[in-house]
Amino acid sequence: MSARVVETDAPVVVGSGLAGLSVARHLGGPCVVVAPAGLGEGTASAWAQGGIAAAVGPGDDPQQHADDTARAGSFAGDTATITRMTQAAPALVAELVAAGVPFDRDASGALSLGREGGHGRHRVCHVGGDRTGAAVVDALAPQVAATSDAAVVRGRALELLVDDDGVAGVLVLDADGPLELRTRRVVLATGGGAALYRDTTNPLGSWGSGVVLAGRAGARLADLELVQFHPTSLDVGGGSGAPLPLVTEAVRGAGAHLLSDGRRFVDEVSPRDVVAAAVHRERVLGRQVALDCRHVPDLLEHFRGLAQRCADMGLDPARDLLPVRPAAHYQMGGVLTDVRGRTDVPGLWACGEVACTGLHGANRLASNSLLEAGVTGTAVAQDAARWAGRTASWATDRVDPVPPERTTTLAPVDGRRGSPTSPKIASVEVRAVMSDLVGVVRDADGLAQAIGRLDDLPGDDALLGGLVARRALARRESLGAHLRADAPAPAVA
Ligand SMILES: Cc1cc2nc3c(=O)[nH]c(=O)nc-3n(C[C@H](O)[C@H](O)[C@H](O)COP(=O)(O)OP(=O)(O)OC[C@H]3O[C@@H](n4cnc5c(N)ncnc54)[C@H](O)[C@@H]3O)c2cc1C
Repeated sequence: MSARVVETDAPVVVGSGLAGLSVARHLGGPCVVVAPAGLGEGTASAWAQGGIAAAVGPGDDPQQHADDTARAGSFAGDTATITRMTQAAPALVAELVAAGVPFDRDASGALSLGREGGHGRHRVCHVGGDRTGAAVVDALAPQVAATSDAAVVRGRALELLVDDDGVAGVLVLDADGPLELRTRRVVLATGGGAALYRDTTNPLGSWGSGVVLAGRAGARLADLELVQFHPTSLDVGGGSGAPLPLVTEAVRGAGAHLLSDGRRFVDEVSPRDVVAAAVHRERVLGRQVALDCRHVPDLLEHFRGLAQRCADMGLDPARDLLPVRPAAHYQMGGVLTDVRGRTDVPGLWACGEVACTGLHGANRLASNSLLEAGVTGTAVAQDAARWAGRTASWATDRVDPVPPERTTTLAPVDGRRGSPTSPKIASVEVRAVMSDLVGVVRDADGLAQAIGRLDDLPGDDALLGGLVARRALARRESLGAHLRADAPAPAVA
């Protein structure tokens, strides 16, 4: 079937989580939003629980937030980016308050702040305890839908169109078939890639398709091996392939204990990579790992979503120990961008989880990703609104150059427009290989096996899995979330 063609001067925004919604809100003019479902639906943003980190509490300041971010990321992050994002966080929270997000408040009316692993103090703004993402999307999506500026195309982007001048458009598959949206400005806000794994906390559409689209268009990808595993997803469902329900870290911040065969084994408010590795180790030893929330004061009042998620599984967190396991949760790497979200390809920006901005280093600090989605979405909108098009220069201004050994490039594939190689969700086979051989703890033999198996499988999901595994094999060290059983962690000052 030949594609319908629509020419537009407006930017096309692919994805409608917090990053895409932030772009649409701040462009100050028309745009086209491509989203597989309704605005905000099926996004990781809507599933976010714990909240948004911002130095808004008494005695806190952005420098302390920056220090915690850098430390959690094993000092592998980009200092300028960390400084900029943590400084922007209080203004983002204020903007969301103004947009109608009903953050929880204490009796005095001040924002109520949660504590999560790796944060030196209470710093996480939340709604309904653990319903933050849904509340943010519920506030912003109707506002974007209500403006006449945003036209919504319900579909999936299959390919970026490029020519000698840079981006030339996006090929989308919607209910009527292929559609070419021809434009000189495209923003990728397609979210992360954790659903490339069988054991995942993410919506299944989040398998990383945007990374492949950008790579094929000629953008450099960075740090693909850096995948964060959340230590406490509910160990239910027996490998059915459905996303595993998450128990937010804020529950541990409120005092819940992790038990292995009944005894505590890790500092529960350590950064995620540390806790996930400890839980993994106990499970490999054949022990039962559970979260004990029974003693947490006002548990069900503070964490309303948790009560519901557990009830769906026949569990009561106020009475039962909750069986937990690590699950793939967040992609630190992605499409390499500068502070304005510019990629290597003129006219192509990336923001939110699909982008690798350098904020997270080797391990994301809890509740820093909604922050990144909101701040980078706004920065991209401002830059895309100003960019004069193909006659203008396209310089990127990343302060710390990223060394080639951290990056991946992809050859463009000709003649594959509209090809069905970009699936809606990753295949069962790919997800199994990723979870079994490219998971919390990796080694050279397992990674080599994974590459062999992924190379034999079709589809962009297998292609991306192979890239992740290759990068993981090449990085012969343990750093943050990238844990190699056969290579030591470098000494951290
Ligand atoms: C269960 C859970 C809890 C979390 N809790 C927190 C938290 O408390 N605090 C925090 O900071 N972070 C949290 N996170 C992480 C955070 O939610 C995400 O990193 C963030 O929301 C990403 O926003 P985004 O806009 O980049 O992507 P998303 O919100 O995922 O939106 C991207 C959208 O693009 C769509 N898409 C993908 N590919 C295509 C394509 N080819 N064409 C069209 N559309 C496409 C996706 O389906 C999705 O709808 C959590 C994540 C999960 C899964």
